[in-house]
Amino acid sequence: MKSEKLIEKILKLKKEKNAIILAHNYQLGEVQDIADLVGDSLELSRKAAETDAEVIVFCGVDFMTETAAVLNPKKVVLHPEPLAKCPMAAMITPETLIAEKRKHPNAQVVCYVNTSAAVKAESDICCTSANAVKVIESLNTEEILFVPDQYLGHYVSTQTDKKIILYPGFCPTHLRILPEIAEESKRKYPEAKFVAHPECRPEVIALADAVLSTSGFCRYAMGEEVKEMLVGTEIGIIHRLRKENPEKRFIPVSEQAVCPNMKLITLDKILWSLEEMEPKVKVSPDVLHRAKEAVDRMLSI
Ligand code: SF4
Repeated sequence: MKSEKLIEKILKLKKEKNAIILAHNYQLGEVQDIADLVGDSLELSRKAAETDAEVIVFCGVDFMTETAAVLNPKKVVLHPEPLAKCPMAAMITPETLIAEKRKHPNAQVVCYVNTSAAVKAESDICCTSANAVKVIESLNTEEILFVPDQYLGHYVSTQTDKKIILYPGFCPTHLRILPEIAEESKRKYPEAKFVAHPECRPEVIALADAVLSTSGFCRYAMGEEVKEMLVGTEIGIIHRLRKENPEKRFIPVSEQAVCPNMKLITLDKILWSLEEMEPKVKVSPDVLHRAKEAVDRMLSI
């Protein structure tokens, strides 16, 4: 089906079903373009809770759709491609987390939002890449078990005096951004600001002018001093950066920084999902309740 026809059908169905389409910053450009909201996972879930939509079509990976279901328990959350899963989130399970907790009985568990609802349910508090330091500083303990991203955990450990125990998870996409490639890009574009995501390697972060979450990238790009930006994160965000700042130049630090899981959501899958009202994201009531406590605790600080 031609994409104009697809878009027309999606928009019609969206209205009929009182649905809202949310797209993560790393989604394909055409998916971002039909979304009601584009943003990071938590920002999207929170905004969805403020709308009167009954159905959320979440274009992102599995842990994001679960977070949306946790924060919107009365709404139907659809994931147009359930095979779109985050490999980093899959690196930790409730069982492995429970085993880690036994090894560190005095530590409080801070889980990155990139975790399943079941892992959040086993954690004391959730965090995002934007608020991780603030979350850790808010806890009345000196020992933190940080899961699952060792690189975000390492970055946070450079910003706090607390003892951060790392877990060996990582984002395969951000690891593709190598320090030598970042150095080469900086040499090629000396006027450009280099912004890195904290999921990057420490050697890459050391080269950056700013270390920011995806929403931070979008705000930073709007600054007057930014004319050119070297983008040190998943390259899907460049679609939004260019759209919001057409007069500026955005250059991927590495063309290899592509998350294949994020690209599995397509317009035809969104249409099918709205037509069938499937696949629905399901989180068991017990897990939902405990995961929500970890997320609400973060939102309250
Ligand atoms: S970019 Fe990395 S952290 Fe984000 S969904 Fe893909 S694999 Fe997971």
